[in-house]
Amino acid sequence: MCGACCRIPDGIVRVSEAEIARIAAFLGMAEAEFIDRETELAPDRRGLILKSRPDGACAWLTDDNLCRINPVKPYQCRTFPGKWTNSDSNETCPGLAGLSRRAEPPRMENSPCRGKPSHL
Ligand code: SF4
Repeated sequence: MCGACCRIPDGIVRVSEAEIARIAAFLGMAEAEFIDRETELAPDRRGLILKSRPDGACAWLTDDNLCRINPVKPYQCRTFPGKWTNSDSNETCPGLAGLSRRAEPPRMENSPCRGKPSHL
């Protein structure tokens, strides 16, 4: 894991209720505490997203490019870029350059990814 997709400034990672429950349990936190401390309202006001660090990276990314919640990370993290990409993914993901000669995954322009939301 290079962590490039976890460092996109202004990127977002949406979390569902089920994902919040799994992550909170993994961390040994109450769901309400996790929501209060680790999430914020999505820019489109449709659900919650993981908070980012002051430098714009995901708060769960370590200095060693590891995900501190890897076993329970959200669906969008588990499926990028194998199952979806968006318009700026090629600029973000070094791994996608190697895929240029193969079929690219489907694009989801308004996907809940750490890429900049297309409406912003
Ligand atoms: S939750 Fe983990 S995989 Fe997802 S953006 Fe944050 S550090 Fe990266």
